Amino acid sequence: MPEPRPESEQKASAQERLRRLRDEIKRRIDYRSFYLRYCPDARQAGARLHGLCPIPAHAHSGKGHPGLSIDLQQGLFNCFSRGEGGDAITFYELMHGVTYARAVGELARELGIAGRGGRRPSLATASAPDPSESETVEPLDAEAMSAVCARFLEVCRAEDQLEGVSYLARRGIDAATMRRAGVVYFPRRAYRRVMRRMREGFAPETLRRGGLFNRREHLTFYRHRLLFPFFVEGRALYLQARTTAASVEPRWHNLRGPVPALYNVDALRRLASDSVVYLVEGFTDTLTLAARGFAAVGLVGAGGLKEEWLAPLARFRVVAALDPDAAGRRAAARYQELFAARGLRLAVVRLPSDVNDFFRQQPAAALEFELMTEAAIEMMNAE
Ligand SMILES: [Zn+2]
Repeated sequence: MPEPRPESEQKASAQERLRRLRDEIKRRIDYRSFYLRYCPDARQAGARLHGLCPIPAHAHSGKGHPGLSIDLQQGLFNCFSRGEGGDAITFYELMHGVTYARAVGELARELGIAGRGGRRPSLATASAPDPSESETVEPLDAEAMSAVCARFLEVCRAEDQLEGVSYLARRGIDAATMRRAGVVYFPRRAYRRVMRRMREGFAPETLRRGGLFNRREHLTFYRHRLLFPFFVEGRALYLQARTTAASVEPRWHNLRGPVPALYNVDALRRLASDSVVYLVEGFTDTLTLAARGFAAVGLVGAGGLKEEWLAPLARFRVVAALDPDAAGRRAAARYQELFAARGLRLAVVRLPSDVNDFFRQQPAAALEFELMTEAAIEMMNAE
């Protein structure tokens, strides 16, 4: 039977555990939503919140000047009228009238941090994307984002592509199409190596601003390792990644910032004017058509078309092949109006399923698809 540890040692290890939990809380907490919970009427100015101080022991009248100021970057609060301030844990102590140790324990539990045993958090936990914090982290400019994207793709391309290739092959997208679209994959076992290589190339701050890393300085692409880059004039400006596992939600993860272009828009650069170009939903449908020699560009979600993306389409005959659900039909009608407002026209094919399913289910899909396209263009011309 092991001897009980001396009391002083137990105390030291309890303190160590508290310190570790405190650090973990500070890495994980979303200060904005934490403080807003107690001060729902606080107003944000830059990286600060200002509001009435809710600390019960201060017994403020609830009227007059907002005396509480919160620094969202550091997570610190300050009550000017009572001259009391501190970090989020102190704030929690004051709000709930509990001890420091209890505040740490409750906050840790709330954030899903396992306190027992002092185990390191799993990679799945450590790699979780930060909660939304667009107010406090400056996004990267296009130049820096492109450098991060290019390096990330290069690092991943050096890893074993097999699982990614077979995932797409099961959806009728061959390896050559995958390569042409610059799609890359890395297996989970390469996660730490990919993370290390990215760390070697960029400052943590840069990686975090791009959304590649989280505030724990971990690569956020842990479950989502099949990468679909957006190339604009030969440069990767952005990417979205998909999980290849059936049970992972959400299925997609992306870098920070808005989608910069239609997916696969660079494929149009060398295409002859007056060619047929399909407007479809998502990466799979775009590459399904590309694999069969059709020119296609993809929207992220049915509603994702931006007006400034229409100009590069003007010299083509554009045919929408959106999903046959209500959202797809609404989007097609709206896009026809959007095109018309610019003096352009949009033909619409109505498939019985999405593009990928259509090509997987119909033996003569390519021929049928061409016939439907001709009919759609004729109908548009007759209008
Ligand atoms: Zn106060």
